[in-house]
Amino acid sequence: MFLESNNNTGYIEVVCGSMFSGKTEELIRRIKRVQIAGQQFKVFKPKIDNRYSDDKVVSHSKNEIHSIVVDKAVDILDLVDDEDDVIGVDEVQFFDEAIVAVCTALADSGRRVIVAGLDMDYTGQPFGPMPGLLSIAEYVTKVKAICMDCSSLANFSYRLTDSEEVVMLGETKEYMPLCRKCFNIRMSHGFDKE
Ligand code: ZN
Repeated sequence: MFLESNNNTGYIEVVCGSMFSGKTEELIRRIKRVQIAGQQFKVFKPKIDNRYSDDKVVSHSKNEIHSIVVDKAVDILDLVDDEDDVIGVDEVQFFDEAIVAVCTALADSGRRVIVAGLDMDYTGQPFGPMPGLLSIAEYVTKVKAICMDCSSLANFSYRLTDSEEVVMLGETKEYMPLCRKCFNIRMSHGFDKE
């Protein structure tokens, strides 16, 4: 693939946080403003996320934009057209490490790249390619949920089930946003899982 440079200065924005922090909502908000500004854009998401819709990025509050589902990060480069000014990626934590190079190539070609994803997995560890993306981004926004135990700001996604599959997709009944203190309390007890 070859990306035509549009002579603009490209840059990368990362929107990250826990489950229910409003990451996708924020991505949709930014893309809608791109739309209002009359710029060309495309939004991608990894194939694994089909929780509401196969071809839309949908937030928990049911706000939505059209998206293109791709298998691998490099597939994005084949689908970007010369006239696309802005590229959005949702659930970016589920992509392979190549997403870091893909975002770099897109920004180097003069495009604005907006990615949204979980910064940590349910054990509190950095999620997949997120550390790399956070390092290369010009702009990082960490959005917060509300801790379900104490109502502080939350940035951990506590899993309520026993499954150890990292790529389990989140619904309200499976995850609970918690602050650091409450996450650590529940992780150290661990017996209140269903
Ligand atoms: Zn708390």
